[in-house]
Amino acid sequence: MTIKIGVLALQGAVAEHIRSLQQAGAEAVAVKRVEQLSELHGLVIPGGESTTIGKLMRKYGFIEAIRQFAADGKPIFGTCAGLIVLAQRIDGGEEAHLGLMDMTVVRNAFGRQRESFETDLEVAGLDRPLRAVFIRAPLIKEVGPDVEVLSVYKGEIVAARQNRLLACSFHPELTDDSALHAYFVAMAEEAAAEKSVK
Ligand code: GLN
Repeated sequence: MTIKIGVLALQGAVAEHIRSLQQAGAEAVAVKRVEQLSELHGLVIPGGESTTIGKLMRKYGFIEAIRQFAADGKPIFGTCAGLIVLAQRIDGGEEAHLGLMDMTVVRNAFGRQRESFETDLEVAGLDRPLRAVFIRAPLIKEVGPDVEVLSVYKGEIVAARQNRLLACSFHPELTDDSALHAYFVAMAEEAAAEKSVK
């Protein structure tokens, strides 16, 4: 079966995610309308500006539709601003967007000097270090008991998974290494296989 993954295309790094997903063997499409969600096996919420993405999601009915998508057992991968959009809690009291993942995130957490940087990261589930690009990145300050920490950078959580939800602070779509996209496509494959035997 061909796995079809959508990239939420309201704002942010969409084309790069589509390329990385194709490199990982999936069919990938830009998602602009809620009706498109029903034809997908998984969804990527890209980086950009979480406040803007959240606003547009509310405006176009994506909040309820994506919550339902998650409740149907379909995987979601949030990167950078997408991680913020997935979180149940945003440090500082800002209102959560999707509120799906049991974690508290801190926006723009790496300070001015370290606004953008690259590093090689160990990520649980990947067999070699991943080149990671951080751009005004958030970090995960605290996670609930069902959240598995996948990667830590200088003591801070930068990638995590809660069942079928995957999130990372950095931009995995900005390098040629599509290993984390392949990990997500495998999650979607597993979810799709489980659905078809039910
Ligand atoms: N700083 C952005 C935010 O807080 C996230 C940055 C990014 O996605 N590269 O929403």
